[in-house]
Amino acid sequence: MSLAEKYRVTPGARVDLSEWKSDDAAGVDRDVAEARLADNIDALQKLQHRLFAEKKRSMLVVLQAMDAGGKDSTIRGVFGPLNPQGVRVNAFGRPTEYELSHDFLWRVHQHTPRKGFIQVFNRSHYEDVLVVRVEELVARGVWRERYAIINEFERALTEAGTQIVKIYLHLSKDRQREKLADRLAQPHKLWKFEPADFDTRRKWDLYMEAYADAIARCGTGHAPWYVVPADRKWYRLLAVSEILRATLERIDPKFPDPKIDREEANRLLDEIG
Ligand code: AMP
Ligand code: MG
Repeated sequence: MSLAEKYRVTPGARVDLSEWKSDDAAGVDRDVAEARLADNIDALQKLQHRLFAEKKRSMLVVLQAMDAGGKDSTIRGVFGPLNPQGVRVNAFGRPTEYELSHDFLWRVHQHTPRKGFIQVFNRSHYEDVLVVRVEELVARGVWRERYAIINEFERALTEAGTQIVKIYLHLSKDRQREKLADRLAQPHKLWKFEPADFDTRRKWDLYMEAYADAIARCGTGHAPWYVVPADRKWYRLLAVSEILRATLERIDPKFPDPKIDREEANRLLDEIG
């Protein structure tokens, strides 16, 4: 079984995140993983080139995780090597007052990818059924309606040619503690730390329930959720790269037909000099 299949959540399946391993490495050694990652990146560069040239489809990658789950390092490690002309990244933090004066999808919809592009969401509209639910930022009746609204939204994007890939970087609570301690110890990491991170950590179990619901209710055939083991960086990068590679290989974008006749163009080049 490919890693993409292994970590894809079956639509309609019950989700209990305690049953998903966060430190799995599927029997892959680190050096093998690093070689495979390099190969996947090579393949992704070529696939991205075709996607960009074709300009018929696009890809939206939603990254969600608890604090220190590795969203930023995944973006650097997997999307960093791609052609920056064809990739956009948007991070969604706490909404501004202006954003909050619209429906919850408004700020997100503006950043969905146009044809030919890969768009990465560092957090996303899912925060509106995660932090918003756990912190009770809106009434229960409001967030409960949002799963269906999200499904309709993602369906509309799919119809418009966007392939959606949703990845939950699954970090264990123990590993988060290590990584937060590391942040506190290192001056160049300290800036990432927010007092609110403690509140989130304290409510770990509620977040796991909210994640499980979002993944179960919004995992569809056309916009699947993947639960990727995130405790080990090298394995996380491998798994994410494999999922994206498998997705783009399935889309199989093609270079467009040439606008010119090659013989004729060569003749013109000779003639003009
Ligand atoms: P970071 O990703 O570490 O920069 O943190 C961004 C913060 O914004 C996190 O604490 C998120 O929970 C929070 N956030 C993102 N989207 C929303 C939202 N829709 N409502 C409330 N908080 C949000
Ligand atoms: Mg943070």
